[in-house]
Amino acid sequence: MSLKNLSDYHTHNYRCKHAEGDLEDYIKAAIKIGLAEIGFCDHFPYEFLKDLGNIPYQDYSMTVNEIPSYISLAEELREKYNNQIQVKLGFELEYMIGQESAINQILEKFIDKIDFLFGSVHLLKGNKGTWCFDDNRYVKEYDLYGADIVYPQYFQKLEKMIKSTEFDFDVVSHFDLPKKFNKFPENQDSITEMINNLLELIKKQNLVIEINTGGLRKDVKEQYPSWNIIEKMHDLDVPIVLGSDAHMPQEVGYKFDEIIKKLKEIGYSEIISFNKRKRKFVEI
Ligand SMILES: [Zn+2]
Ligand SMILES: [Zn+2]
Repeated sequence: MSLKNLSDYHTHNYRCKHAEGDLEDYIKAAIKIGLAEIGFCDHFPYEFLKDLGNIPYQDYSMTVNEIPSYISLAEELREKYNNQIQVKLGFELEYMIGQESAINQILEKFIDKIDFLFGSVHLLKGNKGTWCFDDNRYVKEYDLYGADIVYPQYFQKLEKMIKSTEFDFDVVSHFDLPKKFNKFPENQDSITEMINNLLELIKKQNLVIEINTGGLRKDVKEQYPSWNIIEKMHDLDVPIVLGSDAHMPQEVGYKFDEIIKKLKEIGYSEIISFNKRKRKFVEI
């Protein structure tokens, strides 16, 4: 299967301290498999956020000081590879309740350079403070709280993110991330109800949902979101983008051929392409 109309909008690089390779390595990997577009979506800085407790945020993202060089390198490479691949520039933003304006204060300086923004929730606040539920180092905390606490908390925070009038983003990343370690709640019915409500909200807010193949490399061995959620998304006509969540160049476009086949079976025939925050549908 050809990947020629496809784009990978979710790639990281060495700047976040838990990924390998630089932007050009990811571009080369994308060209090699024939992608039409590659999106840089590295983690936006955490250092200025409040309420981080003891989380090792230094390992989660670039620093604010590194933003200008991240952007200028992406722009330079966009020109260099212009006739081989389209380079798109974005960030993966951490949603923190009530801290939208602090994020915007930094983001606004660069916003005219940005093609797309992903909104994510990785951090939750439990009775022992802020923790990162998808970080291996917090698996003990995850088990202590249990999936029946983690899932509803996560989806409640996601709901706040989606409803926020100040949090500026285009794409909901890895929608059902709490399943990463293959842990599931016992009370599945109430979670399903939350998910259905969220999907309608996402549609109403005119947002895009990422089909993230990173989950296929994790314990759960399944993309985010799961197929039954994607089917509901299709019923609601929610647009999608593809993301590998690559933290190594060789993960670019990870299992896109398999995913596209199934997406087409469900009825999806288009994916979104971003250009300076404007959307275009591309046939797959
Ligand atoms: Zn990462
Ligand atoms: Zn993420």
